[in-house]
Amino acid sequence: MKIICIGRNYLAHVKELDNDLPTEPMFFLKPETALLPQGMAFPYPDFSQKVHYETELVLRVCKLGRNIAEDDAPYYYDAITVGIDFTARDLQSQCKAKGHPWEIAKAFDYSAPIGKFKKISELKNPDDIAFGMKLNGYWAQQGHSRDMIFTFDCIIAHVSRFVTLQEGDLVFTGTPQGVCEVHVGDGLELFLEGEGVLRFVVK
Ligand code: ZN
Repeated sequence: MKIICIGRNYLAHVKELDNDLPTEPMFFLKPETALLPQGMAFPYPDFSQKVHYETELVLRVCKLGRNIAEDDAPYYYDAITVGIDFTARDLQSQCKAKGHPWEIAKAFDYSAPIGKFKKISELKNPDDIAFGMKLNGYWAQQGHSRDMIFTFDCIIAHVSRFVTLQEGDLVFTGTPQGVCEVHVGDGLELFLEGEGVLRFVVK
């Protein structure tokens, strides 16, 4: 399986990082080794001094597909959760400045903790999914899927033009505003429609 991550999908977040507004979805990949096993603490990586959290809705692909039409896209994902796209922001800035790929800043081990999945068909409000993350008990990020620049279906259609989607692949759909640093000792709790789906600590 692979993890596909969309960058720059919420206007307020594009602005907070001073990035240009995208005209089509921008994506990058994380390997399966980026998943954080259930019950494990997130080990703060020794190669970064500035690890940011990005709280994102995560889709699970349920069917093999390539070149998927936007109208057919809903048949290709059936479950959703919330995850963190951990980013070594200091390394990412260096990579960007040199025009290098970002993998060392994004694809490192345990950089993609994900919560418990929920069936899309069981969501209370599938057209505007509320999600968020509490850091040490206080809301750090809260988002709504209606604020996405590119919809789930647009993302699935776009990505599958270039990369075949396989059952079990995960799609991180971008972070809303409010990204910031984590520190050793922090506790993170992820919420989907008000329900806790994952908690873990940074060690
Ligand atoms: Zn992200």
